[in-house]
Amino acid sequence: MLDLKRYGYIAIEPTPDGQTPGRVTNHRGSQYIVITERGEVTAELKGLFHHRAEAREDFPCVGDFVFIHYNDSGPSLITELLPRRSKFSRADLSGHGAGYAKVILEQVVAANFDYVFIVTSLNRDFKVSRIARYLTQALQSGGQPVVILTKADLVSDCDASISDVLKAAPSVPVHAVSAHTGFGMSALDAYLKPEKTVVFLGMSGVGKSSLLNALIGHEITAVKAIREDDDRGRHTTTHRELFMLPMGAMVIDTPGMRELGLYGADEGISAGFYDVEELFARCRFSDCGHQTEPGCAIATALDDGTLARERWESYLAQKQENRYVDDKAVYLSEKQAWAKNIARSTRKMKKSGAIRR
Ligand code: GDP
Ligand code: ZN
Repeated sequence: MLDLKRYGYIAIEPTPDGQTPGRVTNHRGSQYIVITERGEVTAELKGLFHHRAEAREDFPCVGDFVFIHYNDSGPSLITELLPRRSKFSRADLSGHGAGYAKVILEQVVAANFDYVFIVTSLNRDFKVSRIARYLTQALQSGGQPVVILTKADLVSDCDASISDVLKAAPSVPVHAVSAHTGFGMSALDAYLKPEKTVVFLGMSGVGKSSLLNALIGHEITAVKAIREDDDRGRHTTTHRELFMLPMGAMVIDTPGMRELGLYGADEGISAGFYDVEELFARCRFSDCGHQTEPGCAIATALDDGTLARERWESYLAQKQENRYVDDKAVYLSEKQAWAKNIARSTRKMKKSGAIRR
């Protein structure tokens, strides 16, 4: 039997009779892969999740500890999501018309990690302000931030960069490494201890995958790839999104987590959406909300097709996402208001017979 403690499990509440604790290593929608004392199993959510959950954040994600009803002859059932000790969330706009006024949903993209490796490369991408931004996110997540400066082999001297980071964040550990030459890598052993879980936060191209590969050694395919049966019983290969390093620490690497790194960038969205922001100057009112105001240049451009609706929506999505990162408190209060609203209208609909349980 596998000891789930190796996967960072701490039994803070007794396991209900007939159930088993587990940790989510992967999921696609409501199809989960959970590591348990009996090995890795496929699992689904017990129906009550869908009734009880008020928001997306109440659904299990990679890294979560859960209780399951083990099933020998089919998918097991996830009965309970255990409290998280840390988490990263992103705004989820899917299925909800984008707009400034619309309230966004929180989607958790990684949970129960101990360390957040803030990854930036030492060459042209190096920027202390961006690291500061990631630090804010990391501190809000509940994980302990560690700054990793990559590609040390590309610069002649990394001391100046390290002291720049330390000036901005004196109490945060900073390490310069090179995944290619192995320089500085042994310093990471201090964090990569058994039972510890790490997530990586950083823009694409900074060397997260290379770092991961270097840590895993040559076992990458053996460690990461898992085979599962799809609906039709065919074998498909998916990537494990929580996996064990040879030294006994775990890494969570989910697409959502990678996306979060992109939005954490401080460059602002103006550069990428110049065409959109240029239109604002042509709205009749300088404080135009681009919703129903007369003389709105956005509305006109959407109507005549010079601005594609998808482009406008992705602009709003990014704007919303940035705001979300900037001001979690505002977001959370909006979310509570949203949940209340939903509850209220659900009650109303039930009363009127529009929906039934
Ligand atoms: P990711 O998008 O953050 O996962 O970044 P990758 O690991 O895919 O790396 C992006 C590019 O940087 C690739 O071309 C890597 O070969 C290169 N790279 C990554 N680590 C190092 C390093 O330590 N030194 C050098 N010189 N290049 C690196
Ligand atoms: Zn407008």
